[in-house]
Amino acid sequence: MVKDRELKCAYKYCKHGGKVMKSEAIKDGSYYHQQCYQIKLDKKAIREKYYERFKSKEPATAVNGAISKFIDKEGFDSGYVLWCLGLPSVNLNSLYGLSFTLGYKKNEEEYRKYVASRTKIDWDKVEIVEKDKVEIKPFKKEVKLWGDLFD
Ligand SMILES: [Zn+2]
Repeated sequence: MVKDRELKCAYKYCKHGGKVMKSEAIKDGSYYHQQCYQIKLDKKAIREKYYERFKSKEPATAVNGAISKFIDKEGFDSGYVLWCLGLPSVNLNSLYGLSFTLGYKKNEEEYRKYVASRTKIDWDKVEIVEKDKVEIKPFKKEVKLWGDLFD
């Protein structure tokens, strides 16, 4: 058995103390908590979806700033931000404009239902290895839900 050890989570805004056990980490160049890695992927998806959907010419620094504001500063679930960005009623000139949609209570409720309806992933059984880079290892502790934000 490989000896477990503590590593630094590479996600800049890690909310789990910045240390991750190797056995629970996701390796993609650096090591991440499963949740931190998911946020990293969601941020990328938000950026891509925003540019693609609205054909925006907004500079990347502004777009990244808005994403970080929503997720890292205001504490919105990254999956929720991505979901809101896909709502048919949303039309944006700037990603900062999504603020209103994110704060709308009814959207939070709809997203909660959406998350609850999805099949929960059993991390004990997952192992994805992609191009020798991405390894998703079992991570038992957390299945992220919108409600976790209000702990
Ligand atoms: Zn982390």
